[in-house]
Amino acid sequence: MKRTPIGEQAPDERNKNFNEVCLGYTEEQMIEEASRCLQCKTRPCVDGCPVAIKIPEFILHLRNKEYDLASRKIAEDSALPAVCGRVCPQETQCEELCVLGKKGEAVAIGKLERFVGDWTRDNKYKLADPAKPNQHKVAVIGSGPAGLTCAGDLAKLGYDITVFEALHKTGGVLVYGIPEFRLPNTVVEYEIENLKTLGVKFETNVIIGRTVTIDQLMNEEGFEAVFIGSGAGLPMFMNIPGEDLNGVYSANEFLTRSNLMGAYDDSFDTPIRVGKRVAVVGGGNVAMDAARTAKRLGAMTYIVYRRSEKELPARVEEVHHAQEEGIEFHMLTNPTEILGDDKGWVRAIRCIRMELGEPDDSGRRRPVPVKGSEYEIGVDTVVIAIGTSPNPLISQTTPGIEINKWKALIIDETTGKTTREGVYAGGDAVSGSATVILAMGAARTAAKAIDEYIRNKKK
Ligand SMILES: Cc1cc2nc3c(=O)[nH]c(=O)nc-3n(C[C@H](O)[C@H](O)[C@H](O)COP(=O)(O)OP(=O)(O)OC[C@H]3O[C@@H](n4cnc5c(N)ncnc54)[C@H](O)[C@@H]3O)c2cc1C
Ligand code: SF4
Repeated sequence: MKRTPIGEQAPDERNKNFNEVCLGYTEEQMIEEASRCLQCKTRPCVDGCPVAIKIPEFILHLRNKEYDLASRKIAEDSALPAVCGRVCPQETQCEELCVLGKKGEAVAIGKLERFVGDWTRDNKYKLADPAKPNQHKVAVIGSGPAGLTCAGDLAKLGYDITVFEALHKTGGVLVYGIPEFRLPNTVVEYEIENLKTLGVKFETNVIIGRTVTIDQLMNEEGFEAVFIGSGAGLPMFMNIPGEDLNGVYSANEFLTRSNLMGAYDDSFDTPIRVGKRVAVVGGGNVAMDAARTAKRLGAMTYIVYRRSEKELPARVEEVHHAQEEGIEFHMLTNPTEILGDDKGWVRAIRCIRMELGEPDDSGRRRPVPVKGSEYEIGVDTVVIAIGTSPNPLISQTTPGIEINKWKALIIDETTGKTTREGVYAGGDAVSGSATVILAMGAARTAAKAIDEYIRNKKK
């Protein structure tokens, strides 16, 4: 039996606006989809979820229209269902293991999860009341999914939590990276408001390592433990000639200007250069988001990726959406140089065609240049979306904190403990750029360990 189709904005309409692409299930569609679940005793779908959400149980509640119970069931394992239901790569996690997928189409677990998250928000359903204060202070650095999850878990145990965020707005990549057409900011803002009702305090425009150090937080401001959820926001470049030309952006800057600083909205003053043609280099979710943003800003947009479509790291759904919206894919193509005009602005990108050789360390077939196949694509803007690494500011300013060769914080995987007493970490700052759900899972582990650490210290 086929999966219940879900409403989406038409491609030709949505590629001109920033409203959400996927419209979500109606109640009727949701019941139809929830009724497909076989309620397997072996629960293979749960094995595919990094935080082991009790999937058959919450789906059964949905089928019975017990929305409050479905909401509570998910909340046992995940704090952000409306976010995860929109951006988790379900097709390679829970849905990949769903038994219905063996012969037909897996249950749309992600879309059902989104329904629950949206119901909870729309009905202002309260999942937890503020806990009795336990008089212990913990600092959380960064307000992305890792920081928010750790803050929520500890606040529910009665800790006095302050989240320090470098930017003027909270939410991390969920607000500055992932565009509104995939994850509306209101969804994230709601989760943050919820944390505030649990007593969590947020201080924005505070850069830990510059405004104040971890030593000062712990020695002068009375924080007994610190969780670092500072993400991996430092863009990588290709190191090819021309990357310093005007009109070359990192995907982070491009998306931040548009999403966080409102450049897509005429009522904001934030400048963003798009021009008539934009090349986005890379093949992950970030590249798809940058390309789809450029398209919505009015440019003819190309994705330039050095492997084939099969190896694209982006979610299948996002690649499909990008293709439907008219983004042109230049596959097996690698940029070798960005070319400028006499005023120092981008005028073209020079590329070389690639073919796939033997698998490399990543297990994917290694792209090899085809001699003499160089060609130019005329563009006004180039967006580099080939990855990011953790910013070393905190490790450089905190004695005792060690990092590995990729600048990621070194932790004990079972507790999230860093090499410094009382300091824990999780999410992209540890793993390098990964996923929302992995960041949340790591934060939960660390929150549990921080609680144990402080309780043991008391004795
Ligand atoms: C464009 C884009 C699209 C993505 N799409 C998906 C997707 O579809 N699905 C998915 O699962 N994942 C996706 N990801 C990845 C996902 O967003 C990240 O894995 C996740 O946000 C990591 O969470 P985090 O809390 O560790 O870090 P972040 O979300 O990066 O949050 C870290 C926060 O810490 C703050 N910070 C950094 N340094 C300091 C400091 N010194 N002091 C104070 N604050 C600091 C930052 O400003 C930021 O707000 C995407 C990422 C990007 C960039
Ligand atoms: S594997 Fe699929 S059908 Fe079985 S319980 Fe999980 S979601 Fe339902």
